Amino acid sequence: MSTINKAAAPSANHCSRDLREWLTHLAATDRLAVAKPGLDLTHELAAVSDRLELDKALIAPSPSGHAVPVVANLLASRAWIGDCLGVSEDDLIARYQDAVQNPVPWVEVDAGPVQDVVHREVDINGQLPVPTHNELDSGPYISAGLMISRNPSNGIQNVSIHRCQISGKDRIGVLLLPRHTWTYARMAEEAGQALEVAIVIGIDPASLLASQAIVPMDFDEMEIVGALHGAPVEMVKCKTNNVRVPAKAEIVLEGRVLANVQEPEGPFGEFPQYYGRQANRHVIQVDAITHRKKPIFHTIVGGGMEHLLLGGLPREATLLETLQRNDPSVLDVHLSRGGTCRYHLVVKIRKKQEGQAKNIMMGAFAGHYDIKQVIVVDEDVNIHDPESVEWAVATRFQADQDLLVVANTQASKLDPTTTDDGVGAKMGIDATIPLAADDFTFTVIKVPGADDVDLNAVLDDPGAATAIISSDD
Ligand code: MN
Repeated sequence: MSTINKAAAPSANHCSRDLREWLTHLAATDRLAVAKPGLDLTHELAAVSDRLELDKALIAPSPSGHAVPVVANLLASRAWIGDCLGVSEDDLIARYQDAVQNPVPWVEVDAGPVQDVVHREVDINGQLPVPTHNELDSGPYISAGLMISRNPSNGIQNVSIHRCQISGKDRIGVLLLPRHTWTYARMAEEAGQALEVAIVIGIDPASLLASQAIVPMDFDEMEIVGALHGAPVEMVKCKTNNVRVPAKAEIVLEGRVLANVQEPEGPFGEFPQYYGRQANRHVIQVDAITHRKKPIFHTIVGGGMEHLLLGGLPREATLLETLQRNDPSVLDVHLSRGGTCRYHLVVKIRKKQEGQAKNIMMGAFAGHYDIKQVIVVDEDVNIHDPESVEWAVATRFQADQDLLVVANTQASKLDPTTTDDGVGAKMGIDATIPLAADDFTFTVIKVPGADDVDLNAVLDDPGAATAIISSDD
């Protein structure tokens, strides 16, 4: 029997500010499964997490005999995300949007528990329990590390998540897709310099969510965390470089993205449910590892629900923001799970003008290169229900008029149908009712009173059927 300790639950509008606060809340609400000591870091830990993924978080002590425990599956549903931000599921997007619009700068502190232990002699797999998840992964990966880097020209920090292959005792192979960290690395490289970075492991879910915001370059995502927390994040300077990291994180790897060095990285199981293939990619030289006295290591199983949700919700919030700035008729957006919470966007609008849907599609394609398909629907469609969306396409869309295809665009390199350079097509589907349509044609059928029927009041005992069926006179 589990006991729910209501006293430990965050009050309304309280956001968990570090990993341990969130784990304590999960344990108090019977959502934290504890593994027997000694789960194997190779596949077994991911397998157990996979079985629990819609149900419970997992904490695994002594994985493969390692002193540091591993946690996985910190966010199992949108409702959990609401819970960790201290809002209802319905208010989630609005809360996140508000945080993006009203960022709270972090403050620097002199010391923090994340630097209680400092290893200048680095041995990543010896010092940290790094798991191997999917069948064909090249080996252990850090998958839940916030990568914090600094713009070499102005010092503004960027926060993002990149898959990090353990390539040696102090060496990491990293996939930098062409966004902000990649741009900073290229700026450093052009000056013949390495890019200072830190990989932060074991932080609160709000920090993970903020790292996935689609905001402009030189917008420090840690300021979104401050807004979500309702307090500035306390940051501490790394021991071996100038990057500032959350003082209450569990573990930090300090290092440098080397200039003009590329080494094999991959394969790695990714969110589209396929492997990112092996290729020569950026390399991080790790200079130090710092951590709490008894740190906890967080891992995200590649392609699992936590991976999809973390990418999906912040993208929804920031895409909605972008689209609404261009056109206030946009009411809501959804990145569907079948579309990997990245590629397929559904947009709900209050249509005012013909052609509007196509402008909105183009705004969404420009909002993030991952967006591959946009379906625009009217207000009466439930965009969170794939069946409702398909019905709109089936009955309000004609391909010769309502389809937009844009060839040879920048697309997701992890989509197996794009070229090696990440070039692919965009598709837009306008499933809105034509404004010129007469009122009757698109009147949705309705049985009067169906929503208000009280079955207990109108239904008889099932046994009464026998008498009705057997009488034939
Ligand atoms: Mn950024």
